[in-house]
Amino acid sequence: MAGEPQDDCLFCKIVAGQIPATIVRETETTVAFRDINPQAPVHILVIPKAHYENAAALAAGAPQLAADVLAATQAVADEEKLDSYRTVFNTGGGAGQTVWHAHAHVLGGRGMQWPPG
Ligand code: 5GP
Ligand code: ZN
Repeated sequence: MAGEPQDDCLFCKIVAGQIPATIVRETETTVAFRDINPQAPVHILVIPKAHYENAAALAAGAPQLAADVLAATQAVADEEKLDSYRTVFNTGGGAGQTVWHAHAHVLGGRGMQWPPG
């Protein structure tokens, strides 16, 4: 069922505390943690605790939760003292999505090229 934890999902395991992560922020509905393979000096992933496979499914199935994720990206950027940053949702394998639990990348601390490639 939409929103339910999935046994084979890496990020559901992070939410459940079954896989360690460097958590920088947690709310009732979201978790933010440092990316294991950072692409910028600051690279944080913000996820809903509930499982939706990508941002589109999240926005369609739980709009308030999508808003919570966006609010959390701003809160994380503030905490990291980023005045400029990039928020990325990769949706679908062709766009680079590799983990099928909705997540926002918050990237900052360096200049950004557009588009990177
Ligand atoms: P995607 O490619 O799906 O947009 O982003 C998935 C992100 O999750 C990648 O940037 C990848 O480095 C990160 N990632 C994959 N496995 C782990 C993990 O076990 N822990 C953490 N903290 N990040 C992970
Ligand atoms: Zn999940």
